[in-house]
Amino acid sequence: MQTYLITGGAGFIGSHLAEYLLAQGQRVLAIDNLSTGAMANIAHLLPNEHFRFARADVNDLVVLDRLASEAQVIIHLAAAVGVQLVVERPVHTIETNVRGTETVLRAALRYGSRVLVASTSEVYGKATRVPFAEEDDILLGATSKSRWSYAASKMLDEFLALAYHREFGLDALVMRFFNTIGPRQSGRYGMVVPRFVRQALANEPLTIYGDGQQARCFCDVRDIVRAVAALADHHSVGPERVFNLGNTREITITALAQLIKTLTGSSAELAYVPYAEAYAPGFEDMHRRVPDTTRIHRLLGWTPTITLEETIRDIASAL
Ligand code: UDP
Repeated sequence: MQTYLITGGAGFIGSHLAEYLLAQGQRVLAIDNLSTGAMANIAHLLPNEHFRFARADVNDLVVLDRLASEAQVIIHLAAAVGVQLVVERPVHTIETNVRGTETVLRAALRYGSRVLVASTSEVYGKATRVPFAEEDDILLGATSKSRWSYAASKMLDEFLALAYHREFGLDALVMRFFNTIGPRQSGRYGMVVPRFVRQALANEPLTIYGDGQQARCFCDVRDIVRAVAALADHHSVGPERVFNLGNTREITITALAQLIKTLTGSSAELAYVPYAEAYAPGFEDMHRRVPDTTRIHRLLGWTPTITLEETIRDIASAL
């Protein structure tokens, strides 16, 4: 039995990961300040004697140190996430993401633990050549557009993790999550799938931003946590320390809205909302975002197995 510390353990991905690791017979410590996470996500795990939850910020040095001292692996998911939150609270986003990662890396170094740092496909920025591979160049928008602060903060997290590895020999890995969906994901912070499912079930218009021709690849969180756990346990990771994690099936947002309507049997309308109305004026969206998952597949033999249709049905029935 190994002990895993999950920062952001009451969040969407964190709670699924905790559940998966506990089912594998592992011990899980979770820390979360419940800013975007929720007790409801982990209530079913609390009776498990191998699970412990601390309500605290990752920057609470005393709590983090105590938990880190018990863990062999730290999975750092705590972050300010969701495009809406990022656009509305850029200072909070930058400070939370950068300071939190620095604190976690220091703790991991102190105890010689392996650390997996969550990053995001946002770091591919305005790249247009899909699929996106880990060694691709990166092009972000101007600093006057606050959306890009999220990508920049996560890039700095990546640089920092890789620098700790290079300079101090810390066993650090980076996971670039592409759009991840599943039961328990909140639509409050802008994520499209839970929003559309909720709107469809309520027979309210599905709010498609822009012309709906932008496309995304959605991966089920249960596939994602399987990859995270396998990566956490892999003992012969080579010099490549950054990994894309996502599904390669691409769908436009309009097609997604139609699919969700069909699967939920909803007669809701499709409402096209200009970007300037949905976000802030000058907002820039990515047209396409497809992961190249060759690297993670080569290391772990991992490929997603849950279809978008199954995930949508599960989200709908969990609401
Ligand atoms: N989107 C939309 N309607 C919504 C929420 C999001 O059309 O109610 C669009 C959004 O503009 C983006 C895509 O859906 O093009 C995915 O958005 P999400 O926030 O889920 O993730 P992102 O890929 O932007 O990180």
